[in-house]
Amino acid sequence: MSPNNLEHWLRAYEFERGIGDSLAPMVDSKAQPLAGEVALVTGASRGIGRAIALELAAQGADIGVNYSASAEAADMVAEQIRELGRRTHVVQADISDSAAVTAMTKAVTAELGAPTILVNNAGITRDMLAMRMKSADWDAVVGTNLTGSFLATQSVLRGMLRARKGRIITIGSVIGTVGNAGQANYAAAKAGLAGMTRSLAHELGSRGITVNLVAPGFIQTDITADLSDEVINNVMQRIPLERLGLPADVAPLVAFLAGPGGAYITGQVIHVDGGMVMG
Ligand code: NAP
Repeated sequence: MSPNNLEHWLRAYEFERGIGDSLAPMVDSKAQPLAGEVALVTGASRGIGRAIALELAAQGADIGVNYSASAEAADMVAEQIRELGRRTHVVQADISDSAAVTAMTKAVTAELGAPTILVNNAGITRDMLAMRMKSADWDAVVGTNLTGSFLATQSVLRGMLRARKGRIITIGSVIGTVGNAGQANYAAAKAGLAGMTRSLAHELGSRGITVNLVAPGFIQTDITADLSDEVINNVMQRIPLERLGLPADVAPLVAFLAGPGGAYITGQVIHVDGGMVMG
C-alpha cells in the first residue's frame, strides 16, 4: 500500500472513530497479511460491513462488495478499496434469495477469483413484541440474517474445499446470546447462526476451513440510530467500557480471524461488546 493510500484509509477510519492519530500504530503499511486473498463481504455498503471491507482491503485482500439497495454507498466503498491499491467488484444481491446469492459469488469469482474469506455481515431488524409480530417480519429477519448467511456460505464452499483453505466469519449479535424484548425474530436468527457456526466448524475443519461468529454489542450504525435515549441509557449501564461500539471496533477482530493469527480458532462465538456479555 502506498503511503498516500494508507493515509486515505486512516483518515476514513479516524473519521469513523472520531479520534485522532491514536490508531496509527495499528496499521503498518508493510503488513499485508491478507495479500493474495479474496474476501466477499455481504452488506458491505454501510456500517459494520463497510468497516470490515476497508480493514480487509487495508490488510491486502481483494474485496467483493455486496449490497442490497444502496448502490451509491457501495460504489463509494469500492472507490476507497481501489484507493488502497486493491481490486474490488461490487455486486447487488438480496442475500435471502438463493439464485441471487449464487449469481453474486459467480460474479465475484469471475472478476477476482474464488473467495477464500467470506464475511456474512448483511443483516436487518424488524422489532416488535411477539404478540404483534407479523409473520412477514419474522420471515424477513430470519431470511436475511440466518438463511442468507447459510446461502452465502454454501455458495463459497466449493471453491474453499477445492483450495483446501477458507475463513468463514459471520456477524452475530449479543442479542443471540442474551435475548431482548421485541427481538424474538432477530434473537432467534442470531442464536441460529451460533449453532450453524459450530456445526460448520465440525464439518469443515478437516478441510482447512475455519468458521467463527463475531457477536457485536451495541454498535453505532443505521441499525441503532433510531434507539431512544432511554434505551441507550439503559444499555450503557450494562457496558463496563461505558460507551457504545463503533464499526471500527469490530473490523480488526474479523481481519484477525481471517488472517494468520486466526489459523487455530474455529467454532467460536466471540463477543465485541465492551464487556456487556461475559463468561
Ligand atoms: P446497517 O448499517 O443497517 O447495514 C446493513 C448492511 O446490510 C447494509 O450494507 C445493507 O445493504 C445490507 N443488507 C441488508 N439487507 C440485505 C440483504 N437482504 N441482502 C444484502 N445485503 C443486505 O447495519 P449494521 O449495524 O452495520 O449491521 C451489520 C451486521 O451487524 C448485521 O448482521 C447486524 O445484525 C449485526 N449487528 C449489528 C449491531 C449494531 O449494534 N449495529 C449489533 C450486533 C450485530 P444496503 O445498504 O444496500 O441496504
